[in-house]
Amino acid sequence: MKTVKNYIDGAWKEPSGKESQDVVDPGTGEIVAKVRFSTSEEVNGAVKAAREAFREWRMTPPVTRARYMFKLKSILEERFDEAAKICSMEVGKTLEESRGEVRRSIEVVEAMAGIPTLMKGQALEDIAAGIDCSVYRQPIGVFAAIAPFNFPFMVPLWFLPPAIATGNTFIVKPSEQVPLSQQMVFEILDELNLPSGVVNLVNGGKDAANVLLSHPDVAGVSFVGATETAKYIYSEAARHGKRVQSLGGAKNFMLIMPDADIPATVNAIIGSSYGCAGQRCLAGSNIVAVGGIHDALVEALLAKSKALKTGYGLEADSQMGAIASKKSRDRILGLIEVGVKEGAKLLLDGRKVKVEKYPKGFYIGPTMFDEVTPQMTIAKEEIFGPVLNILRAKDFEEGMRMIEACPYANAGSIFTASGKMAREFGYRLPASMCGINIGIAAPMSFFSFGGSRNSFFGDLKAHGQESVDFYTDRKVISSRWF
Ligand code: NAD
Repeated sequence: MKTVKNYIDGAWKEPSGKESQDVVDPGTGEIVAKVRFSTSEEVNGAVKAAREAFREWRMTPPVTRARYMFKLKSILEERFDEAAKICSMEVGKTLEESRGEVRRSIEVVEAMAGIPTLMKGQALEDIAAGIDCSVYRQPIGVFAAIAPFNFPFMVPLWFLPPAIATGNTFIVKPSEQVPLSQQMVFEILDELNLPSGVVNLVNGGKDAANVLLSHPDVAGVSFVGATETAKYIYSEAARHGKRVQSLGGAKNFMLIMPDADIPATVNAIIGSSYGCAGQRCLAGSNIVAVGGIHDALVEALLAKSKALKTGYGLEADSQMGAIASKKSRDRILGLIEVGVKEGAKLLLDGRKVKVEKYPKGFYIGPTMFDEVTPQMTIAKEEIFGPVLNILRAKDFEEGMRMIEACPYANAGSIFTASGKMAREFGYRLPASMCGINIGIAAPMSFFSFGGSRNSFFGDLKAHGQESVDFYTDRKVISSRWF
């Protein structure tokens, strides 16, 4: 069985903490690896290595740092299929979804290959007679990422490329549930021959995260996970004087107007709500049918949902994979039960799905509730599973009020043929990632990613130009020569 290692100061070593956790392939229910947690000394060792590496790394010219990005892209492409397989195996999603995840990771690296341009500052002559002023973007020091389970390959790679391309050094703490994808990412990083200490990997749970949050030599933290944790990380990191960007949970709405194109809309909803078995912060969860579109929409959605094949992610004909853990599956089953008890109409019951070949896998099939009201638990809580709720609104205004009342604000979409309604939706949507006839409104790597309200704590978001802002200080130099 594979044992998971840390990568600190350019060397691989198994963590030596007392606590450990099995890594389970959720599609088969079999244990595939074991991860031992790091001690605080080991996490401190990673910070020390990163701090020492920073002195020289910040002096490495941006063009040289950019060349590491080109090399990183090239190795990621070479090992693309292998990466997708590891990702699917540890988190349960289909191979196609994992390929998408690896592709998105590579796109962040591609964007950061432009760091000499992205990092340029500003200058102005004669701010006063004979005095010039220039602004340089400078790296700050050691940054860390604390990652969730649902995108084990990609989420750390939202942060590591911009952090090191801008001249900082970095520590990744993956989710203890899915540490294997980052083992591979760090094998690849090792091939780059970066100066030792520039990138480091520490495995563990919240104790390891807490060492990073309070360490005086960690300048900033990038976090992605549940809202409750995101809030805690935000306040804890800030309490210790750090920069912090903290991405939390979501409850995404899709507003379906009476003039929406039903076949195209249904395809988009299916991809959004059931992709990655709904374990995606951009998953469409509350579908609001406006006016008279309800019956035709539900009929078409139900037919498509029923036809989806749930199965082992690594088998080519599976259209929806497993739930990432037994704990998540049990939580989702509990919420389906609550939905039934609170009076929602269960049109399609994914609890009945059986994947014969893998009886120990954690599966729930596509699940559809109709007659959901905004007051129901399933309409308010993040389900993070393949459960789609249909709500009704008499008009745009009523639908919009439901969306505006939601404390989460990650993503939202409208489906309509009207430019006017689309414009109004984009204008009023509290969420920061907005889709117009798009089901998964994921910003590409050269735009910023993140929500607002309870879905995001901080101001500078993940990737894009904002990540360059997050990982750099803007130093203003005013100069006069006699
Ligand atoms: P989680 O909050 O349980 O864990 C995330 C990370 O935080 C893990 O590395 C974990 O070890 C660490 N952690 C957990 N509790 C901690 C504590 N008390 N102190 C310090 N560290 C702690 O999240 P999860 O269950 O792994 O991920 C699922 C959640 O992530 C969902 O809510 C989903 O919406 C969210 N998510 C959000 C985005 C986004 O872009 N907003 C993207 C992906 C996932």
